[in-house]
Amino acid sequence: MHYSAVSLPSETLLMSEKFISREIFIGNLPLGNSHPVRIQSMTNTPTLNTKATVEQIIRLVEAGCDMIRITAANIREAENLKNIRDKLMEKEIDIPLIADIHFQPKAAEIAAGIVEKVRINPGNYSGSHHKNKQYSEAGYQAELEQTSQNLKPLLHICKQHNTAIRIGINHGSLSDRILYKYGNTPRGMVASAMEFIRICRENHFEDLILSLKASDVRTMIEANRFMVREMLKNKMNYPLHLGVTEAGNGTEGRIKSAMGIGTLLADGIGNTIRVSLTEAPEKEIPVAQKLIEFYGHSQQVSVVQTSYVSYGDIPENQQSDMVLIDEKKTISPENSLLLLSYPDLPYNDLVLRAPVDFNLAYEKKKADSLLLVNGPASNGESLRELTLQILQARGLRYSKTEFVACPSCGRTHFDIEKELNKVKYRLGNVKGLKIAVMGCFVNGPGEMAGADYGFVGSAPGKIDLYKGQTILFKNLPEEEALNQLETLIRK
Ligand code: SF4
Repeated sequence: MHYSAVSLPSETLLMSEKFISREIFIGNLPLGNSHPVRIQSMTNTPTLNTKATVEQIIRLVEAGCDMIRITAANIREAENLKNIRDKLMEKEIDIPLIADIHFQPKAAEIAAGIVEKVRINPGNYSGSHHKNKQYSEAGYQAELEQTSQNLKPLLHICKQHNTAIRIGINHGSLSDRILYKYGNTPRGMVASAMEFIRICRENHFEDLILSLKASDVRTMIEANRFMVREMLKNKMNYPLHLGVTEAGNGTEGRIKSAMGIGTLLADGIGNTIRVSLTEAPEKEIPVAQKLIEFYGHSQQVSVVQTSYVSYGDIPENQQSDMVLIDEKKTISPENSLLLLSYPDLPYNDLVLRAPVDFNLAYEKKKADSLLLVNGPASNGESLRELTLQILQARGLRYSKTEFVACPSCGRTHFDIEKELNKVKYRLGNVKGLKIAVMGCFVNGPGEMAGADYGFVGSAPGKIDLYKGQTILFKNLPEEEALNQLETLIRK
C-alpha cells in the first residue's frame, strides 16, 4: 500500500474542507460519522484495586461519561481488567472500557481480549530507546518492519474480539525514529500516526481511532488539522479523539482544554473528547458536556458578540479592562481591539467560551488587544485575570508561572492535585517559568513538554526533581522536594 509522504507546511492551517469520519463501534457504542461527540475519562485509582476502580467508574458513569480508560501498566493489571469488568456486569453497568498501554505489548494483547478498545502509544511501541539515535534509510525501514511485526499479534487478537484500537500519539513521546526524521513537531506526530495506520491497513484492520495530543494548545490544534488534511489527501476518514495533555487544574486547566478541544470541534473535527484535569476525573465531565453543547454540533450556540474596534471607540469605564496582547506595545487610539461581549453568560461558562471564541477570531484576524465584556456577574478584575490566562494559554503573553500537570492515573504515586496546588501556591508568580508536576517517572519526564523544572512522583510519597531533562534529586520526601524546588528557582 502506498501513501504520499507527509509534506504539509508548518504554519497552522485553518480547515476549509469538511471532514466526516467513518463509523466504528466501541463495544455497542457507535462512534464517529453523525453520532454525538462521545465523552471519555480515565480512572486514577490503582488498577489492581478493583473495588476503588469500580466505584470510580460508577461515579463517572453517573456524571455522564460514555467510555472509561484504565491504565494497564503490566500483565497483572491487564488481567485484572476482567475482574473490573465482571464487577461492573454484576452491577448491570455496561460501559465500554479502554485499556491504556505503555511499553508492554503483552499487556495490550491480554487487555484486547477483555475490553472494547486498547490505546497504544506508537512512541513506545517501537522497541528503540536510544536518545539521539542516527538512522540510515535502511535502518529506519528495518525498525519500521520490526514495529509492524510487534504489532501483528495485537491486531490479530483485536480482530478476533472486535476490539478497537486508538493510536495515541503524544507530542513529547514520539519514537526515536520519528524524532530523527521529523523532530518533535506536529509533522512528526502525523507521520507517526500514518506509519501505524499503514501497518494496520496492511493487516486489514480498520477499527481505528486517532489522537494527537500535546500540552501546548497550538501544537495540539495544528497536529489535528494536519492529520485531517493528510487523511483527506489519502482518502481516509478515521475518527479523532481530542485532548490537551497535562492541562493542569482549576481555571488554567479548563482554559487550555477548552481552547484546544473547542477550536477543533468548531472546525468539525473530533468524535470523542477527554478533558484532562488534575482533579477528580468526575469533574472533567461537566466541562466536556459544555464544550460539546457549545461547539460539538453543526450549529454553534451563539452567545458572543465579536467585533474589532479601535481603542478610542470603547467607553472610558471599560478601557482599564482591556489587555494588550503584546505587552511591549503601547496603547494608542489606533490600536485594533478585539471585543468579545457576553451579556448574559454565567462566569463558569465564560471560562470555556472565551478561550475558544478568542482563538477562532484571532486566527482569522490579529488584534493588538483583547477586551472581554460580561454582564454584571463578573467584575473588571476577574475579567482582566481571565484575559491574561487566555493569552498565556495561546502562548501570546506570559504573566505568571506556566504549569503543566498530568491528570494522574493508576501509576500515580502521590496526591498530585494537592501537590500541584502547593507548588502553585509557593511558585505561581514567576513570569516566564514553566514547571511540570507529573504523576509517574515512567511517562512523566518524557511528557514534561519543555518545562524548566519537573516535580515527578517516583515512589509512594517520593519525588524526583528535574531541571529540564536532567534529574537533580531522586526520591526526596514531598515536603523536602518542594523546599528544594523553591530554593533552586529562587537562586
Ligand atoms: S504521567 Fe501521569 S497520566 Fe501519564 S502515565 Fe504517568 S501518572 Fe499516568
